[in-house]
Amino acid sequence: MEIQFLGGAREVGRSSFYVKGSKNFLLDYGVKVGRKIEYPISAGKVDAFILSHAHLDHCGFAPELYRHAFPIAFGTEPSLRLAELLLEDSIKIGMKEHLPPKVTKKELGFFMRRYVPYDYGAPVGFGEYDITFYDAGHMCGSAITKIEKSGSGRKLVYTGDFKIEEQLLQRGAEIVESDILMIETTYANRNHEDRKSAIKRFVEEVREVVDNKGTALVPVFAVGRAQEVLAAPPKN
Ligand SMILES: [Zn+2]
Repeated sequence: MEIQFLGGAREVGRSSFYVKGSKNFLLDYGVKVGRKIEYPISAGKVDAFILSHAHLDHCGFAPELYRHAFPIAFGTEPSLRLAELLLEDSIKIGMKEHLPPKVTKKELGFFMRRYVPYDYGAPVGFGEYDITFYDAGHMCGSAITKIEKSGSGRKLVYTGDFKIEEQLLQRGAEIVESDILMIETTYANRNHEDRKSAIKRFVEEVREVVDNKGTALVPVFAVGRAQEVLAAPPKN
């Protein structure tokens, strides 16, 4: 196996990793959203595209793969539904802002048609490989991918974005044994405030604004964090 990093290395955004073997896998194909949109390096021939989750920094460029080819795509069912929504929306925004279209609705349609959804823990055979998804605990449908060469017992694990700690709407990530581990490290060097006290502080601050007849504006990412913020925290 040969691994090539097409984006998302020493940066946050445009996550994409190319794994070459008797079958060639592309793990995610995202965009980097900033002042201008940045794209991953082009992939070589792809036999199967694997989507870890629906955030655009992991799926934003996936339809482009379907411009000249028709690779099969694997991921979970919620990732398929959410990716469709987010990609349609990003194409719409691109058109509104008169940006030259990098991906079109037609390619998005091909991507959706080639996507085969699988549940967590249900192995998919592909050539001499078995692919299995595990709960990554990051957002609805997010998956850790294990690619195992049949009979060899050698396992490559790609975490995508993951969260070990349980959230209000997500269980914590499953721990998956690996021989080669590709792990995301966005918050690796940061200490997060204890979750319980962060929730308490957040609720108190919103309550104070509302009690003073103000309007609390809560800027959050639209998919995943927004739903988590809207969910009712546990009593006490
Ligand atoms: Zn994410």
